[in-house]
Amino acid sequence: MKESLMDIIVCPMDKSELELEVSEQDDEEILGGTLTCSDCGETYPIEDGIPNLLPPDMQEEPATWAGEIPTFW
Ligand SMILES: [Zn+2]
Repeated sequence: MKESLMDIIVCPMDKSELELEVSEQDDEEILGGTLTCSDCGETYPIEDGIPNLLPPDMQEEPATWAGEIPTFW
């Protein structure tokens, strides 16, 4: 991702600004790092140049409701 993308992307939880911490960079392309929300403190990884801005509860398996589906037969 380009660093200019920081002007566009926000925290998916509360739409606050994100702080960029770069761990891997190639010229203007940021390949790896971490985005930290300035408000809720949630962190989002940048992997292979792509920021992963899924909310934390979307990044996990939806296992909690699996045993609660009612059966009708
Ligand atoms: Zn946030």
